[in-house]
Amino acid sequence: MKLDKIIEITGEIEALTGLRIGGSSNIIEIGGNDNPIIRNPQNNEPYIPGSSLKGKMRSLLEWNKGKVSGDGKVHSCIEVDCPICKIFGRGAEDAKRASSGPTRITVRDAYLVEESRKRLQRMKGIQGTDTEMKYENSINRLDSSATPRNVERVPAGTKFEFNITCKIFSDDNEDEIIKDIYSGMKLISLDGVGGGISRGNGQIKFNNLKINGIDIGEDEIKLY
Ligand SMILES: [Zn+2]
Repeated sequence: MKLDKIIEITGEIEALTGLRIGGSSNIIEIGGNDNPIIRNPQNNEPYIPGSSLKGKMRSLLEWNKGKVSGDGKVHSCIEVDCPICKIFGRGAEDAKRASSGPTRITVRDAYLVEESRKRLQRMKGIQGTDTEMKYENSINRLDSSATPRNVERVPAGTKFEFNITCKIFSDDNEDEIIKDIYSGMKLISLDGVGGGISRGNGQIKFNNLKINGIDIGEDEIKLY
């Protein structure tokens, strides 16, 4: 088995609605925001962890390919040609028994693009925070009383750098692997990332996609 090449898919992720990718609420005071978003500890800016994107893409593809098991756990098997396990990786025990080599895909953490960094800094200068607080109510069915909760979101319009690399080994069917990655990206853009998607959070769009520096046609990822 030989590593033939590493392909790279780049572009931008644009939040079309507020984005909620949760951080830890341990440090938040009572009465403050009980539902903070995740931030890069180095500069305190919001970002989308590669693990969130990879995990979401994987789970949507597992559903799409009928690979979700009865217990709902992350799929893992020892079939050499299983596209999910090959692209996204296996559990340690299965990886030893299956001989399909290392996990193919690497999804980088998605940091703010410069334009969005400036926009969020301006926002912070004006309102003291670079995120939006959204109040969601849970309504009691009998007396219609509302129980509000405070949800922090990265505002719509924020853009992040998107970068995926994928190893292609000599025995791999490159076209099939790329097709599955495009399919995962299409499913994410139809579904969303982060929490509260069914309540309107987390809708995203990919912009300026390139594969190995060459434009990916607007409709190309919609094919799969
Ligand atoms: Zn599998």
